[in-house]
Amino acid sequence: MCIKFFPYKEDGVKGVLCETDYLRRLDLLCAKCCCAIRGPHINAVNKKFHVEHFTCDVCNTVLPPSSNYFQNNGNIYCQEHFSELFVNRCSGCHTLLIRQQSIKFDKNVNLKEQWHPECYVIYKSWNVKLVLEDEVPKEPPVEPKDFNAEIEKQKIIEEKIGRIWSILSAFEESSAECMAEILSYVSENLYLDGIEQAGNFLCHVDVLFSGIDEIEYKLSKFNDNTGLQHTKEPKNLARKIIALFSLLKPNPKQDTSQEIVEIGNDISKIIKILIQSALKGALKLENVYKDKTAVDSFLAKFLTLDEMQSESRRQHLMTSNEYSTHSEYCPVCHKSVEEECIKLNGFRWHLHCFYCQNCKKDLHEAYEEGRLKPKNEKVYCKNCLPTYGMSGFVYVTQLKQYTFLLKDALKRLYIISTKE
Ligand SMILES: [Zn+2]
Ligand SMILES: [Zn+2]
Ligand SMILES: [Zn+2]
Ligand SMILES: [Zn+2]
Ligand SMILES: [Zn+2]
Repeated sequence: MCIKFFPYKEDGVKGVLCETDYLRRLDLLCAKCCCAIRGPHINAVNKKFHVEHFTCDVCNTVLPPSSNYFQNNGNIYCQEHFSELFVNRCSGCHTLLIRQQSIKFDKNVNLKEQWHPECYVIYKSWNVKLVLEDEVPKEPPVEPKDFNAEIEKQKIIEEKIGRIWSILSAFEESSAECMAEILSYVSENLYLDGIEQAGNFLCHVDVLFSGIDEIEYKLSKFNDNTGLQHTKEPKNLARKIIALFSLLKPNPKQDTSQEIVEIGNDISKIIKILIQSALKGALKLENVYKDKTAVDSFLAKFLTLDEMQSESRRQHLMTSNEYSTHSEYCPVCHKSVEEECIKLNGFRWHLHCFYCQNCKKDLHEAYEEGRLKPKNEKVYCKNCLPTYGMSGFVYVTQLKQYTFLLKDALKRLYIISTKE
């Protein structure tokens, strides 16, 4: 209830105002509490404040008149909250580092670089930043009211970088452990154990390759032909592994351990590059193509490793002595199949060999329409073999075929070694 009235005159019109409105016209109200200012006050961001109401908009700490205050968009902050909200972004993922443990570097005198510890080790291990400079979303500056929401966002991102780091680094470590085990078995002439350990290692390759296949498949849906499977690394990896296998049997050379160490180092390097390109692909799916599950779905592959390894051990024990080799050669050209192919019933065809044996129609794009004639085990199109014939052809990626060939080679090695 206003008790005082103040006369005023504007554009020749006279009237009365209550004290609040009168002081507002004179710009003598505190911007925080909206009450009259009668004593000393502070001018800032084109507003006036009671000295005791000149506070940080986030934490409400009174800012001493003599100290520096920080402002953005008409809001006032203490130094701590200003830098949390506007300055400290992680160099790896570009999210704000609010009340978080972080690693700081002086990039130069004026610029400090800050990282989530996980973002930093991910960058150091695989040279991958979670968000690239040009992928940073243009977001309006954070307002004090968004502060808590921002902290929630933070938590989600931090859990995610935690998952990326723990899963991928554990994977690298466990594949390096396989190599170390192989080396120690071979040095004790325990070749069968070495072969079994190599089987465990192949599960790592299998997991990584299927992760890469999935990412590449998803990228191709956006017409992004990054071509992860056709780079030289998978092929190099397969070669190195075959070279490793050749050392898993009694060797005329006295000591092969140095060779195994070198191959092991080469293999770790290639695995690192493959993880890098897969992770980059998954992040591109998320950041550029907005597929928000790409990284987690890639990481989920690695969680199948244990299961796959016990399955591999079980299969080793059951490996039968009769070993059929017909799957190794293409039934059409009788050459070995070392690249992507189409399979059914233990047969694998080169893509260029997958055509109708009657009308020669190329079927490799429409492989589901192929029919296998059981009598002669030849492929026909549905026009040439309309009534019967087996279907269910499956496309095998380049990487799947590498895995298949490697497992196959190891199986053969195992059979030979058990007979000796
Ligand atoms: Zn006030
Ligand atoms: Zn504050
Ligand atoms: Zn980060
Ligand atoms: Zn062929
Ligand atoms: Zn045909």
